[in-house]
Amino acid sequence: MYPNLEGKTAIVTGSSKGIGKGIAERFGNEKMNVVVDYLTDPDGASDTAETIRQNGGQAVTVQADVSKEADIRKLIDTAVSEFGSLDVLVNNAGFSESEPSKELDLETWQRVLDVNLTGAFIASREALKYMTEHEVKGSIINISSVHQVMPMIENVHYGVTKAGIKMLTETLAIEYAAQGIRVNAIAPGAINTPGNPIFEKSEEQQQKMLDKIPMREIGRPEQMAAVAAWLASSEADYVTGATLFADGGMTLYPSQLK
Ligand code: NAP
Repeated sequence: MYPNLEGKTAIVTGSSKGIGKGIAERFGNEKMNVVVDYLTDPDGASDTAETIRQNGGQAVTVQADVSKEADIRKLIDTAVSEFGSLDVLVNNAGFSESEPSKELDLETWQRVLDVNLTGAFIASREALKYMTEHEVKGSIINISSVHQVMPMIENVHYGVTKAGIKMLTETLAIEYAAQGIRVNAIAPGAINTPGNPIFEKSEEQQQKMLDKIPMREIGRPEQMAAVAAWLASSEADYVTGATLFADGGMTLYPSQLK
């Protein structure tokens, strides 16, 4: 627990399920106020909000497509009107659809870029406007991926967005450091979520995945949430522009394992 997070207000995009849900619920444990964003799953969002309230935080759900400027403004306006501030933004919403690169149509390419990268940019820009105008020494946390550095076959669009998130993180970090606003990223490895239901795959596929992970374990949303809570807290107040790899060692060249 990080006592200085109590009463702070966060927006977590895509928190109706998966990693975003884990982060939003952890913020509830920290007794924060959370704007729970969803796109197609209001029940998942309500469930997240209920858990946050049970944990001692406050929550409101908002349907917002992160690729739309008006929807992002709705998220920021809700944070301010319901809870009086915006201290933490977690850009988590994201997805991919595997496709061989030579068959990837422009519509799919564009949608993945719009949600994963442009969405994080719009939300960050609007949060930065609010934070600088109101002198909030806030924290922005972008959910990247090991695929910001590891190419993923049939996921060129996804990898490009995550590589872009790295530069978005570093550029905003350096640009707003003097105002006390910190911008960092978390790069998860293989995390079991509805978007990546690893335990529904064949034993062979699961083993293939485990062989790439030095810790020989699939990750959980709560583990990403623990990193997010630390990054949001004042314990990390000298950390900006960093990408924390929470991947069981996946990016440490497991091919070198004995
Ligand atoms: P997930 O289980 O599929 O959940 C995705 C969440 O994003 C849902 O809440 C979904 O909302 C929301 N979302 C999707 N498009 C949206 C949009 N346009 N606007 C607003 N919300 C939107 O995904 P996940 O596995 O937790 O992944 C979350 C993040 O972690 C992504 O950025 C992903 O790239 C990253 N990541 C995941 C893994 C992994 O192994 N799981 C590894 C590395 C990185 P609705 O359900 O309401 O539609």
